[in-house]
Amino acid sequence: MSTSKPEISKRQKQLLDELNKCADELSGQELYRSLHASEFSMGLTTVYRNLQVLVKQGLVRSRHLPTGEVLYAPVERDIHHLTCVSCGETKRLEGCPVQAMKTPKKISNQFELLFHTLEYFGLCHNCSQSIKA
Ligand SMILES: [Zn+2]
Ligand SMILES: [Zn+2]
Repeated sequence: MSTSKPEISKRQKQLLDELNKCADELSGQELYRSLHASEFSMGLTTVYRNLQVLVKQGLVRSRHLPTGEVLYAPVERDIHHLTCVSCGETKRLEGCPVQAMKTPKKISNQFELLFHTLEYFGLCHNCSQSIKA
């Protein structure tokens, strides 16, 4: 028996497949809705419970929005966003500034890093123009 890959249930695999299919991040609600239309329908609480398991296993990353919503994506996707505090528009950042940072050895020896988050907040071009006007 191999221990290199965590064992995941059929439902967790369905959620992971759904996240891999989508180029963007998905909320629990969105996952629930897209699975609902398919043969793999499951309850919303089941969706959230299984997402939690996937995050703990280091297969899925989660990102908390200021609105309280949580977005999920496969863990290997290292994507960061610029979010406008005025209109809520988000843009993807090119590249990952965190890659250039060195995690202190003290941390990496005692803590198994699964993923990181980094977000920029500000005003988009349109909003900064209308504020100045
Ligand atoms: Zn804006
Ligand atoms: Zn990153």
